[in-house]
Amino acid sequence: MENNVSGIVYLVGAGPGDPELMTLKALRLVRTCKVLVHDALIPKEILEEVNSECEIFYVGKRAGCKSYLQSDINKLLLKLSNEGKDIVRLKGGDPFVFSRGGEEVSFLEENGISFEIVPGITSGIAASSYFGIPLTHRNGASSVTFVTGHETSEKKEKSVDWKKLATISDSLVIYMGIRNIEFIVQELLIGGMDCHTKCAVVQEATLRNQKSLTTELSKLPKVIQLNQIRPPAIVIIGKIVDFKVNNNVTKLSSVIMQN
Ligand code: SAH
Repeated sequence: MENNVSGIVYLVGAGPGDPELMTLKALRLVRTCKVLVHDALIPKEILEEVNSECEIFYVGKRAGCKSYLQSDINKLLLKLSNEGKDIVRLKGGDPFVFSRGGEEVSFLEENGISFEIVPGITSGIAASSYFGIPLTHRNGASSVTFVTGHETSEKKEKSVDWKKLATISDSLVIYMGIRNIEFIVQELLIGGMDCHTKCAVVQEATLRNQKSLTTELSKLPKVIQLNQIRPPAIVIIGKIVDFKVNNNVTKLSSVIMQN
């Protein structure tokens, strides 16, 4: 096994929050790395796994503050790996799902730095499992779209076409959608999605503060507001919510999210 090869960047998914949902590989790398560079949305229990010599760099977004520039994170990774250090670049969920992991590995590749990608359980999958919603089902849910809800009506070049998504995918799993939910619902309704389509919301999935609810499309923004749902949360929209099971005994982790 190639452990601790200097100068390698390990781009590692930490999973959705519960440390027990990390892979064995992720845990081994976190325990043995010399440098850990991490985002927000990582439970602090994971950070307690590092060895005493490990340097820790936080490059996430703090509440109310600007995020670190991607270019600064890239520069940091380059500098540390040029010092011959092996680095774990730890990201919440999966490093290639709405995490700029693609941008980071392209940069590393352009600069001749070796890297390894370690997938993690993405929060969209964990949130639906923990709420008892199968993302696909033979009886009518054959496609699922993972989509960011972060784009606002002000953004000039939109890459998410909600009106189209209203009809082309059996179910939608929306990341970062809470603050923009009114716009999203409005667009889906204009696009032809039935106003009674079932929806689910899961906040802080897998963790002890997990909060979840179901409703229907036209009521979604109001219900989110009334229940004071806050990020991080996943919104699931589509027929798939009809297949939700209720006697799910999955235990929540006792940890809380490090924001
Ligand atoms: N790479 C991450 C996604 C990062 S984008 C992944 O694969 O999960 C950040 C968004 O992920 C949040 O705004 C929220 O929509 C979602 N998210 C992350 N952790 C979550 C959790 N434990 N519960 C619900 N949503 C979560």
